[in-house]
Amino acid sequence: MIVHVQKNIPAASLELLGRKLQAAVLTTPERHILITPSSYRSVNGEAAGVEQYIEETFVFADDRQMAALEYTKTKRTVNIGNVAVGGQTDHCIMIAGPCSIESEEQIDQVAQFLVERGIKTLRAGCYKPRTSPYSFQGLGLEGLKMLARVRERYGFSIITEARDATHIDEIIEYADVIQVGAKAMYDQGILRRCGTSNKPVLIKRGFGSTLQEFVQAAEFVLSAGNDQVMLCERGIRTFETKTRFTLDLCGVAWLKAHTNLPLILDPSHAMGYRYGVPDLAKACVAMGVDGLLIETHPNPDVAKSDASQQLNFAQFGAMHDSLRALAQAVGKTMV
Ligand code: PEP
Ligand code: MN
Repeated sequence: MIVHVQKNIPAASLELLGRKLQAAVLTTPERHILITPSSYRSVNGEAAGVEQYIEETFVFADDRQMAALEYTKTKRTVNIGNVAVGGQTDHCIMIAGPCSIESEEQIDQVAQFLVERGIKTLRAGCYKPRTSPYSFQGLGLEGLKMLARVRERYGFSIITEARDATHIDEIIEYADVIQVGAKAMYDQGILRRCGTSNKPVLIKRGFGSTLQEFVQAAEFVLSAGNDQVMLCERGIRTFETKTRFTLDLCGVAWLKAHTNLPLILDPSHAMGYRYGVPDLAKACVAMGVDGLLIETHPNPDVAKSDASQQLNFAQFGAMHDSLRALAQAVGKTMV
């Protein structure tokens, strides 16, 4: 249950009410927002004596609460630099870049290519959550500093991944959006720290996670006070082994209908092989999603991570041209 409480409630009464309702208390410029476990169906006797301060209560069937479309009625907007994503905008944001930042030269080549295409949001991993400890683990802080220099040179917004909560302060300093990876989606240290930051957060769906668990990961960030949250579907594991994962477009349809968060789709990690990425990207844009995340590399065959799925520049360019036209057909603009 979410309870909206007027700002003029005495502090001690607010504190007591929050304790009785086992609620997280968020204070916004307009009101206090109490978020209780969803098993609460009303404030009943808990609000005795302070009923006059209660503006509205919202009851939910489960712990999809702050992220529920039933709560806000309209979609939330997240601002990445000066690009608005989600909400009532007609934007489909293109988030593009290599899987990993590998060198100053590599990221500069990618940046030049993307800036010529009018793309404003660059992604690259510095802390890579690799399945093997013997694979390339990323350039870490050195990579973040390279990304910050690229941001300075070209004016991009930068998105990069936190592999654990200790990376978040650095990411806040050098980048614009915190990515929470599929393997980190359950990491409450990361989620809670994201909740107390004022940077936008992109949460990728764990490949073995239900939609409910995915949305609840977002609830950790939202209920801690950061409303700048985007969800990213990047493929789930099924019985199928011919593709790396399976892009869950049914899940996207459900998220669109039941949550208020911007939806970003990542066909690169879902497919795992570059030949399938452009067609999948078209399907995503046709669904009217709020953005895409696509991996591209100057020479994918020698990439230090995710070599098989990254598009070279010619492939990316051809895909991007076709997506622009397709976006227009569904009332969207690629930004
Ligand atoms: C990535 O974006 O490069 C990445 C590691 O993705 P995921 O967390 O979805 O596997
Ligand atoms: Mn990758």
